Amino acid sequence: MSFAVHGLPVSQGIAIGHAHLVSHALLEVNHYKIAPRHLEAELERFDNAVASVDGELLGLKTVATTAQPHSEVGAFIDLQRMMLEDPVLIEAARNKIKEHHYNAEWALVQQMESVVEQFRQIEDPYLRERKADVVQVVERLVKTLLGDPGPLPQRRKDGLGTVIVAHDLSPADTIGFKDHIAGFITDVGGPTSHTAIVARNLGIPAVVGLRHIRDLLRANELIIVDGTRGIAIIDPDESVVEEYQLRRAALELERSKLKRLRDTPATTLDGEVIQLLANVSGPQDMAQVKETNADGVGLLRTEFLFIDRDTLPDEDEQYETYRSILKAASGRPVSARTFDIGADKMLVGSTQDEPNPALGLRAVRYSLAEPKMFLTQLRALLRSSAHGKLRIMIPMLVHADEIEQTLTLIEKAKEELREEKIKFDEKIPIGGMVEVPAAALALNMFIRRLGFLSIGTNDLIQYTLAVDRGNEAVVRLYDPLHPAVLKLISGTIQAAQRAEIPVSVCGEMAGSSTYTLLLLGMGLRSFSMHPARILEIKQQILRADLAEITSRMQRILKLDEPARIREAVEKLAG
Ligand code: PEP
Ligand code: MG
Repeated sequence: MSFAVHGLPVSQGIAIGHAHLVSHALLEVNHYKIAPRHLEAELERFDNAVASVDGELLGLKTVATTAQPHSEVGAFIDLQRMMLEDPVLIEAARNKIKEHHYNAEWALVQQMESVVEQFRQIEDPYLRERKADVVQVVERLVKTLLGDPGPLPQRRKDGLGTVIVAHDLSPADTIGFKDHIAGFITDVGGPTSHTAIVARNLGIPAVVGLRHIRDLLRANELIIVDGTRGIAIIDPDESVVEEYQLRRAALELERSKLKRLRDTPATTLDGEVIQLLANVSGPQDMAQVKETNADGVGLLRTEFLFIDRDTLPDEDEQYETYRSILKAASGRPVSARTFDIGADKMLVGSTQDEPNPALGLRAVRYSLAEPKMFLTQLRALLRSSAHGKLRIMIPMLVHADEIEQTLTLIEKAKEELREEKIKFDEKIPIGGMVEVPAAALALNMFIRRLGFLSIGTNDLIQYTLAVDRGNEAVVRLYDPLHPAVLKLISGTIQAAQRAEIPVSVCGEMAGSSTYTLLLLGMGLRSFSMHPARILEIKQQILRADLAEITSRMQRILKLDEPARIREAVEKLAG
């Protein structure tokens, strides 16, 4: 039976494909007690899962070592197989089933948490790292117990794609799926969650916040994902599929018309040139930056280069990656944001467990807590600065001493490179992101220490309104037009202009045509967005009369009634 479900449109476009249900093993573990008469069967289920994962790992090892006989992968797999025999993990979990009558999945996750805690206390960094292996082994076991649907089908007979259906997807999952899928839909998530941003960057149509969609679907069912309207249509009639095929073709036509603007300068009606920069996650995005002829990269999210792995790459690997991005930018500026790790962007296998991760050890806080890792990144960035116009940008600043400490580390990295006679840009600009109200309100202390600013509206809205950007339950409260948000953004732009320091917006607001005139009216002259949005925003700019918008914006900023603000902004857009 056909039905439609409404969610949040987070990545435009239309996908038509078959459902692939993804289990998020460790998140979906139920907790229940096993009746005594079913205990034997539960223990057997547990033992079967252990045996099955062992077989799976052995198979993986054969494939890996045949392809690369001397690689370390074989040893890593052996280590994970040894864990399947480790009494501290396996026997103890089994005892939890026997003694406490826990279901097998819950017993495993409980035991995993206690083992991981023990690992965390270990001084030796190598052994401490091994906690990721424990988590991965348990994840495999739990997936097997839950009946993992298996690997993605590569190609379907009817030529349609695959639509991923999940409770939630981490940015790493999204990246991992990128080559195979037509679209995705999830139970949870918000429009500026990092997963949604990745989907937009990859150009994958997506709808999130569909609540219980995963429970409503069967594997392989036909789905239409309308990422523009935020609708998922399950088991559509033939006529609906045809209608959507036509709509998809029309969208493609519109996109190809926009392409004609590629080489038109982004100039307003009154002759002001606006800078249009791209947000990128890695070298793979640079082709699209070229396609749209962006003025450079306003935000390189460096953490996405490495987020789907469990350890960060060494200095040389980072250097090569940054260098290839600078090379692809062909002399245009690239603002590399130092790692924004933490909150929803954790390394694979990380079990960092904070009660309030968005307010915890994230971004510059995480980097300063790991000075060795930070220094490695700074050295790699500085080395790559010899090959292009690089700028370094620090995320989530709140305190002046976070800048001081970062600048000290940059100085140390420079000193080391000078001693090693390695070239770098001595005058590399260092900037910061304004993403927390405290930074916007005490801007002078940042202006005094930095060379440029970029406003991260995604986080600025989250932290100003106390609304988790990834939580669909509060998404209606996430309002870019809240008068407090508008005051912080316009105040930041004006203060930066008074101090004559460059300022840009690199949050999702910069790439949404709803806000283009509003931001221009606040005085913004530099926008950074995912490359797929650049031409549409350029179209808005070409129609803008700055003198008129600026005076209307002054009046809007005096309003504090949400309905009147909304009305005025709609009128501004004509
Ligand atoms: C922002 O917060 O607006 C931003 C650009 O950074 P991110 O979305 O990566 O947190
Ligand atoms: Mg941010």
